[in-house]
Amino acid sequence: MDLTKTVDVFKTYLEKYMALNYAGSLFHWDAATGAPKGGVESRARIMGLLQAEAFVMAISDKMKDFLDALGPELDSLDEITRATYRKCKRDYDSMAKIPPEEFREYAETCALAENCWEDAKERSDYKSFAPWLKKIVEFNKKFIGYRGYTGHPYNTLLDDYEPGMTVEKLDAFFEQIKASVVPLIKKITQSGVTIDDAFLGVPVPKAKQERISALLMDALGYDTNRGMLRESEHPFTTGFGKNDVRMTTHYHESAFLSSLYSVMHEAGHAIYDQNSADAIANTVLDGGVSMGVHESQSRFYENIIGRSRGFWKRFRPELVGILGGEFKNISAEKFYLAANIAKPSLIRIEADELTYPLHIMVRYEIEKAVLSEKDFDADSLPEIWADKYEEYLGVRPRNDAEGILQDVHWSSGLFGYFPSYAVGSALASQFLFFMNKDINAERLVEAGDIGAINGWLKEKIHQHGSVKMPEDLIMEVCGEPLDSKYYTDYLEKKFGAIYGV
Ligand code: ZN
Repeated sequence: MDLTKTVDVFKTYLEKYMALNYAGSLFHWDAATGAPKGGVESRARIMGLLQAEAFVMAISDKMKDFLDALGPELDSLDEITRATYRKCKRDYDSMAKIPPEEFREYAETCALAENCWEDAKERSDYKSFAPWLKKIVEFNKKFIGYRGYTGHPYNTLLDDYEPGMTVEKLDAFFEQIKASVVPLIKKITQSGVTIDDAFLGVPVPKAKQERISALLMDALGYDTNRGMLRESEHPFTTGFGKNDVRMTTHYHESAFLSSLYSVMHEAGHAIYDQNSADAIANTVLDGGVSMGVHESQSRFYENIIGRSRGFWKRFRPELVGILGGEFKNISAEKFYLAANIAKPSLIRIEADELTYPLHIMVRYEIEKAVLSEKDFDADSLPEIWADKYEEYLGVRPRNDAEGILQDVHWSSGLFGYFPSYAVGSALASQFLFFMNKDINAERLVEAGDIGAINGWLKEKIHQHGSVKMPEDLIMEVCGEPLDSKYYTDYLEKKFGAIYGV
């Protein structure tokens, strides 16, 4: 077969592969947004089969033939085909060693575990979830055994979400953050400065919060013609290519900022995906380049745009127009300060921008430990979790729901994912620094011109999908690799000013 023909057949093969992946994601979306409870087990079986089928395609002899045929011809291929080859080769090399039957069993286990986690969280009953967690960890350890690792076993999983990331790099990364953030939190606590946020607890009916969601999606540039917003227990974004990128939120009546910021966060993920170049739509390259870079975009919209003074100056009138009542007496400055209270707390997704990375550090240290322990003791985790929260944040969960059961990730097998959140926050600050060399981000937010910011991000980051490797993309945008100093500088400057420390 000549090269052009091989490339064509390869791309047709991948189209089917993506269709299977999309079908699996659609089941996942459906399960999280209101599918009937009674169907859990049959759906888990279907999801397991779909994922296993996609898995088989990624590691089949046919895939190997494609890779063998294209490998020696890379120089004569265009950039997109080269990147497609690279991505498939990475997946092939990492997964071909896992027996498909075990992978199917794993996918089915995760689908059931996620359902069990939901119930366990509702009842705050970790004991009922512990056997599932143990199973998932054992699967991951077995898979790492098949796949092999260099340095630390955790590195294999970290690399899945952030190519090139290692325990060594993350240890240094968190060390730097700890050195800056922990003393800063201490100074803030000792400053005696208190910020009034009582008004944030005033109940806001769901209908009003839905109007706020619509306002924000529009203002940020999320295209609802190619997406939709629904409700789920834990907010997330999923997609079936750039033309159908969906997101969810969760409305809390007495904490309207929770959904306001979760919508801004998920919109950051979704806009990234919607902005992929047409040339890579519905291919394996459609969507973000790594979890860390993806998270940098959600953090950018949530924190750098949403928690800025400019945002509240610009959007306060429209927001209080919807909120009504006593909110009409709250100034933009009061909203800005209340949205930026730095106070150690228990729930990661409700955490403020400053204490947030410490929540991730707790999870990072636990994952690192459980993946290297020979006999993993699932029963001891709530205690370990609580001790770490006490050590880094000075707070201790009173029950499992506000402790170890708060996140969905482990139930769906996402070990190695959490560090991307901290890497993403750091990258967001780094991108902001370089963006400000071209445009004035805060002034644009204050003018309500998010389009100019979207344009910058689209050109530099979004349009490329995963055509480039994350390190190369970061180098092209910043002229240097990930550096946490932009993050700690940003945090020190912002929170130092708010608290006068
Ligand atoms: Zn996110």
